[in-house]
Amino acid sequence: MTTPVARFSDLKQEQINEFLHDRIQVPEDLQSNVMVTTLDKVYNWSRKSSMWPLLFGLACCAIEMIATAASRYDLARFGMEVMRPSPRQSDLMIVSGTVTKKMVPAIVRIYNQMAEPRYVLSMGACATGGGPFKEGYSVVSGVDKYIPVDVYVPGCPPTPEALIYGLLKLHEKVERQSITSVPWYRKGSSEAVPVPILGPDLFDPRKVQVIKEHTLGSAAAVKGAVASKARLQPQPMAEELKARIRAAQAQYRTQKQPA
Ligand code: SF4
Repeated sequence: MTTPVARFSDLKQEQINEFLHDRIQVPEDLQSNVMVTTLDKVYNWSRKSSMWPLLFGLACCAIEMIATAASRYDLARFGMEVMRPSPRQSDLMIVSGTVTKKMVPAIVRIYNQMAEPRYVLSMGACATGGGPFKEGYSVVSGVDKYIPVDVYVPGCPPTPEALIYGLLKLHEKVERQSITSVPWYRKGSSEAVPVPILGPDLFDPRKVQVIKEHTLGSAAAVKGAVASKARLQPQPMAEELKARIRAAQAQYRTQKQPA
């Protein structure tokens, strides 16, 4: 037995029902003209229905992301087909692929350039935890060590269906937010994430003091190291020792002289 196909008007009614206020009833004769809803519902619906992803990919997972945006899976049905090449116009960063240490400063900088509200989706095993390259010399064990992640999509690579599921989960998260408590309308702007510095390895500039103390020891230990270094400097030879050496050399020369 086949399921009857819903009529377009029914679908539309379903969508409208999502908006209707669950306690305020509109009289039947006004229902075709008046709709009562909350500001949160309208605000969240408009944000989730026009979430523009940032156009960038890091490795093989990006191919699946591209497939998701193409005609077969069609991101346009979520209002997400406009992938923006500028962080200023993007709401969603899909981190799709292996996050190398060299890329982290660029990713964090781009994240900082995105305007609030902004979301991050970690796509695939590499972006989430390092994947097959975990503990590799050039790969970080998850992008969430540097920027906040909202949704994780597992897989290597995740299928387009999995990515779409992750996007729907993100939509649910957006729908749960309230305009009265979202962080981007609170007093004081949100702080930028410190861009990690790429030296022999990546480090967070906020942790410079901790790293110094860990590698050099406490301030007292540093003083001790300086003192012991001074002790290891070459010292002038004592006169008594010099005299003994001269005597030994003279004795050696005497023994060597032919009879
Ligand atoms: S998770 Fe797998 S498919 Fe995705 S970037 Fe890593 S290795 Fe490639």
